[in-house]
Amino acid sequence: MSTFRPFSGQRIAVVGLGRAGLPAALRLREWGAEVVAWDDGAAGLDGAERAGMTVRDLSAGPFAFDALMLSPGIPHILPKPHPVASRARDAGVPILADVEFLFRAVRAAGSQAQFIGVTGTNGKSTTTALVHHLLTGAGQTSEVGGNLGPAALGLNILGHNGRYALEMSSYMLERLASIRFNHGVMLNLSADHLDRHGSMAGYAAAKAEIFARQQPEDLAVVGQDDAWTAAMAAGRRARLRSISALRPIAGGIWAEGASLRDDSGEIADLRAAPALPGSHNAQNAAAAAAVALDLGVTRAQVAAGLVTFPGLPHRQERVGTLGGVVFVNDSKATNADSTARALASYDRVVWIAGGIAKEGGIEALAPFFPRIAKALLIGRDAPAFAATLAAAGVPHEVTGTLDAAVPAAAAAARSGAAPVVLLSPACASFDQFTGFDARGDRFRALVQGMISDDLGRAA
Ligand code: ADP
Repeated sequence: MSTFRPFSGQRIAVVGLGRAGLPAALRLREWGAEVVAWDDGAAGLDGAERAGMTVRDLSAGPFAFDALMLSPGIPHILPKPHPVASRARDAGVPILADVEFLFRAVRAAGSQAQFIGVTGTNGKSTTTALVHHLLTGAGQTSEVGGNLGPAALGLNILGHNGRYALEMSSYMLERLASIRFNHGVMLNLSADHLDRHGSMAGYAAAKAEIFARQQPEDLAVVGQDDAWTAAMAAGRRARLRSISALRPIAGGIWAEGASLRDDSGEIADLRAAPALPGSHNAQNAAAAAAVALDLGVTRAQVAAGLVTFPGLPHRQERVGTLGGVVFVNDSKATNADSTARALASYDRVVWIAGGIAKEGGIEALAPFFPRIAKALLIGRDAPAFAATLAAAGVPHEVTGTLDAAVPAAAAAARSGAAPVVLLSPACASFDQFTGFDARGDRFRALVQGMISDDLGRAA
């Protein structure tokens, strides 16, 4: 048995036993808590039972707990509270995210390790991973996780010099009680998840939790490129570092074209950073640099780290080159807004898109249509996308599956149509895949298969 038992004597209900929930429940138990677990689905329950957890339907029977850990995907207010969440609220039991327990455990271990929280509508994962990369590149001890995985309770307890780079979704931010982010980053805000937050104001309020409990010695890194986020700079207790991908900001960090700068001059030339294309990534780079510089990473180390950053899978990930054509996997782009960023990064592309479209489809992408040499359309909403493209005179073909789209895209690109094949679906994937990651993995495998066939032929 572990001798580190920070939650000894605490009764914790864990509801939602998916990829993160079950390991979290086991961790809480290992750290001394009395854990009762529940999931509405059989798969989650089976896993918990196999792991020897106490499993009980928490929508009925006694409800005597010190906390409820509810998985981020399960609502506690809107659109409709989960019954267990309602019971917790009625009983005055706090509903908490896993990150809160990590924080408590680290402090219970006597460690003053620093917490870096990163949020925003887009760019969270990239920025979080980049912060970690800049810190470790400078020889600092850092663990990375949260929303992008591994989940918070899968991370190690670090000593005083350690740093946690944590991606925080709005769903997690609503369920915190005592965690204080020594560095809080808020990148940007655009309409998303409004079913859960009720309104933009509700969504913004959840995001602003990244700065809650900050002290004057802490740092608030605040994006200035949209009005909702910029408004969060006012009234902060912490030191403020503004960031912009669009314009110079005295005292801040900004990008002028590809030049990342602060008041002392250029920090880095982002043209040398292959995994950070586009002005959206300049915003991410500015935010990560703000945190790293504040934590003692030198300007030269920041510049070097931006160049060596490998990027994240499925976010404009270059998966291969064939006959001079670059194949880019942006499967993470599940809405038109993200796809706009990707299309804006290339002058001419063969584009693979489709799946389950979001409201508005690809109408908002019309400014980028002239860049599309040809579109290959897959998934449920391919016909709707075809209609939009036809009306705009964009060459396109409904191939139905990704397996058919990739060779067709390669042929079109190699015949000189464009130097880039971009998978950036602007759609959810659930009609054909288990998730955006499975869709991106399939794309990568198809491209790599074509490359090895080509090598085989050449040999
Ligand atoms: P998140 O974790 O917030 O979903 P990611 O870093 O995974 O963000 O990026 C997801 C997609 O969003 C990327 O493929 C890119 O197209 C787009 N994106 C990344 N950073 C930004 C940003 N700062 N602003 C707008 N869009 C962005």
